[in-house]
Amino acid sequence: MNYNSSSLIPFIPPEEYDSVAEEFLHLYCEEALLKPMAVPIENIAKNELGLDVQYICLSEELDIYGMTLFTDGAVEIYDSEEGLYETKVFKKKTVLIDPEAVKKTNIGCRNNTLAHECVHWFKHRLYYKIQQYALPRQAKHCKCRVSDLPQMSNEEGILEAQAVGIAPRILMPKSTFIEAAESIGIVHGEDNWSAIAEIASLFYVSKQSVSIRLEECGLI
Ligand SMILES: [Zn+2]
Repeated sequence: MNYNSSSLIPFIPPEEYDSVAEEFLHLYCEEALLKPMAVPIENIAKNELGLDVQYICLSEELDIYGMTLFTDGAVEIYDSEEGLYETKVFKKKTVLIDPEAVKKTNIGCRNNTLAHECVHWFKHRLYYKIQQYALPRQAKHCKCRVSDLPQMSNEEGILEAQAVGIAPRILMPKSTFIEAAESIGIVHGEDNWSAIAEIASLFYVSKQSVSIRLEECGLI
């Protein structure tokens, strides 16, 4: 994989998303490349990557579902009891997930959000490390929004698209996913409702996420 040499944005075209997901699983959960299973992504985030995962409300409108802090510093969170935004200091390697906002994403799945934040840490921490020198006073963090990609800078948009694309491929690696879909009996052109539910519970992801992955793999 190449990096843009000035910004350290990794260059990962979409056709390489599956191989980046496999690289991640080779390092942290080899077993998931050998048999269809639920990838223990929270365990990987905490114990393999050393991330401190916290569940917390991030916005009043529930439009921010996740954040990863790459440096120590303050970020804005939402106190839903008081109805106020407040600034709170967190350590680097903290991942903040808003469980209510997660439900509003099109994938609608906490595990996918955890995998998404793991991708940011796995592939994007060098980019944020450089930012630390360019803009030292702010905590370097990514803020993952339910639906406003156009508001992001080009660089953030590239990073976000990579995390969105790679996360489900970590949870449903191509070869074992196809193996499971075929053995559970996915049929091209049918509605496959009960098979999709079965695959979702096997991989511990949402049914929406399975449907998208089946389409990507050309199975429905
Ligand atoms: Zn993100």
